Amino acid sequence: STAATPPATAGRILIIGATGFMGQFMTKASLGLGRSTYLLLRPGSLTPSKAAIVKSFQDRGAKVIHGVINDKELMVKILKDYEIDVVISLVGGGNLMDQRTLVDAIKSVKTVKRFLPSEFGHDTDRANPVEPGLTMYKEKRLIRRLIEESGIPYTYICCNSIASWPYHDNCHPSKVPPPVDQFLIYGDGSVKAYFVDGNDIEKFTMKAIDDIRTRNKNVHFRPPSNCYSINELASLWEKIIGRKIPRAIVSAEDLLAAAAENCIPRSIVAAFTHDIFINGCQINFSIEGPNDIEIGTLYPDEKFRCLEECFKDFVPMTHDMNVHVGTTEIKNNRKSLVEVAPITAM
Ligand code: NDP
Repeated sequence: STAATPPATAGRILIIGATGFMGQFMTKASLGLGRSTYLLLRPGSLTPSKAAIVKSFQDRGAKVIHGVINDKELMVKILKDYEIDVVISLVGGGNLMDQRTLVDAIKSVKTVKRFLPSEFGHDTDRANPVEPGLTMYKEKRLIRRLIEESGIPYTYICCNSIASWPYHDNCHPSKVPPPVDQFLIYGDGSVKAYFVDGNDIEKFTMKAIDDIRTRNKNVHFRPPSNCYSINELASLWEKIIGRKIPRAIVSAEDLLAAAAENCIPRSIVAAFTHDIFINGCQINFSIEGPNDIEIGTLYPDEKFRCLEECFKDFVPMTHDMNVHVGTTEIKNNRKSLVEVAPITAM
């Protein structure tokens, strides 16, 4: 029962990457709980949309610190001066190695009670995507080893997929509604994966940072109600919009070919899509190891938002799309809905 859960500490949280895709969910969750929230922002001119996001966070009490994580002296000073207890990194796929210096700084101050590196996807020690996805995982694995060698208390959040349509040719998940013209089904469409609401990922992450049971653990998100094959995802969306949509197959070979194009970041997404929907990388291992814990077992009274609710959020977005035009134009429309931003995926 949740009675075993230690109470939240008043600990100060430093969020790195608050302007990013996952970082925004994280910051909202931290502020929503009234936690003392510090945001490390890279100096330089923010885009107008990012500036507006930062302003909204400041209005809700977030304190902004300017700096980059790959400056050790500065990071040591920040961690000390602001008495940071928890560091949560959500840097994107292109900046994972910057975390080496951050780990070094955390190690030398010795006061950080928990560090969450930029993981927030698959268990990168177990999943084995083809290149160019593998390179990203090798970087995440390297950061894990540095953390473990440093003796820093850590938690690796393995939250699986964010609740959105898993386009294999997309640059970034979410923000894009499921298809209205044609479903592309990967392989035989039967391999299952977990699709979790972004707000839930961070809601549960906020619980995990204070919980002794998640210290030095891989925390897996496997909510049974959010486990779907792509065939089931397609049927769910058809049910929501009230009509059938034709399906076409994208084979394992097609996905491997898209990955082999090595067009970054799109090919990284293709490599992960292959790993999820062909290899079954989210479900093909048991989480009974000594370092594994499933988040739902820790907080059995807390519910996850079901996927049907999540997908209903996309319905208003489809009204902007002309469903009568051909695939190419729909693809263009789809892309135009994605904000131009540095891109990564799980
Ligand atoms: P984004 O690219 O959207 O954002 C990255 C953030 O990190 C930005 O705020 C950026 O700042 C900041 N940043 C980058 N380098 C530095 C640095 N050296 N110092 C300080 N800040 C820095 O990242 P995502 O949200 O896409 O990715 C975050 C993590 O979540 C990744 O590990 C990714 O793999 C994972 N992920 C998982 C998904 C899933 O479905 N499970 C989906 C998407 C991501 P600036 O604004 O200055 O650029």
